[in-house]
Amino acid sequence: MLAAMPPSSPNPQDRGEAHIRDRVRERGDACPGALRLHRADDGSLARLRVPTGVLTPRQVTVLADASDRLGDGHLSLTSRGNVELRGLGDGCGAGLADLLREAGLLPSERHERVRNMVVSPLAGPGVQGWAARLDALLCAEDWTTELSGRFLFAVDDGRGDVAGLAADVTLLAAPHGGALLHVADRTWRVAPADAPRAALAAAGAFLAAARRAGTGAWRVRELPAGQDVDVTEHLRRAAVAAEPVPEAALPAGGPPPPGVIGDGTVSVLARLGRVSSAQFRALLPAEEVRVTPWRGFVLPGLAGRAAAEERLRALDGAGFITRTDSPWTGVTACTGRPGCAKSLSDVRADARPREGALPVHWSGCARRCGHPQGAWTDMVATGEGAYQMTVQGPTK
Ligand code: SF4
Repeated sequence: MLAAMPPSSPNPQDRGEAHIRDRVRERGDACPGALRLHRADDGSLARLRVPTGVLTPRQVTVLADASDRLGDGHLSLTSRGNVELRGLGDGCGAGLADLLREAGLLPSERHERVRNMVVSPLAGPGVQGWAARLDALLCAEDWTTELSGRFLFAVDDGRGDVAGLAADVTLLAAPHGGALLHVADRTWRVAPADAPRAALAAAGAFLAAARRAGTGAWRVRELPAGQDVDVTEHLRRAAVAAEPVPEAALPAGGPPPPGVIGDGTVSVLARLGRVSSAQFRALLPAEEVRVTPWRGFVLPGLAGRAAAEERLRALDGAGFITRTDSPWTGVTACTGRPGCAKSLSDVRADARPREGALPVHWSGCARRCGHPQGAWTDMVATGEGAYQMTVQGPTK
């Protein structure tokens, strides 16, 4: 049963922002990771950060095999482009860690939960290089382990896709060369070669501000009103030359649409953000597989348009969403039952294709895990198979 309601003000997380700013977090950061598993109702859950979004063919195979051998034979994608294995049995954490380590997916075990980054999936080598360098810098510093598992970097190639994902620190390729650093509604221009160090310095500025505030903020937007993030001083200490850019707005572009892009790239979405190990393997052969924060994959570097179209047909046959006009494009869901004890319903079984123009997110409770940014139709379970529908986020 659906109870339709008129468009509402932004979702409760946004409505409560002033409340969040004043709140002192009382609990430690319990974000799951690849080494710190989360005990869920359907077994343990491992969340693997893929900071640049790029998986090698071998890493794809290792993850698919791990989900078969240790988990439930599926992989879930998150709204930050992370990959989750669910249904892990008791005592398999060490075995999973060995597999991930050998595949090069755990370059620094102490930092595995702070490598939170979203990167434009179609980015070229320059912007991809920023992301890889920023990840290496993050993993090279002791102090970065103080960041929470929720603190997010975005590295955008200028098209404005990941810049719209409300990251704490955004690096953006500027239209005529150069790099922009965006933090707490302020922007600086820096040299491209300095961009990764600038982003790291901004994270340091946030941590300093969070310590001064003493409220236990995990994210920039959780700092108390008036608490300055002194990015300029931290850039100076890092010897990064930066020029303030007044009133610079972040570009707003959309995600890569499913289908063939250009002459040799394919983009697909995973229905409700989940794939079987067989589907995951069906992404190969590929030079690399890029995981997107829209719960999809991009395969660049295919041998021309005809080859890309052939791969798209094969991936359609494997059960991926391959067309923008698919009714499942833009439909997402939280884990729901049986994986989440908080869920009032089996959300993934209840989720239906989209009817309106907005993205639709189905949730088993009011936490709305993994909901999209921007305007979206919100379906929240109120009981077994019953949902309340509202429109959330800015609608203009
Ligand atoms: S939205 Fe609620 S039911 Fe769904 S995964 Fe999050 S906590 Fe669980």
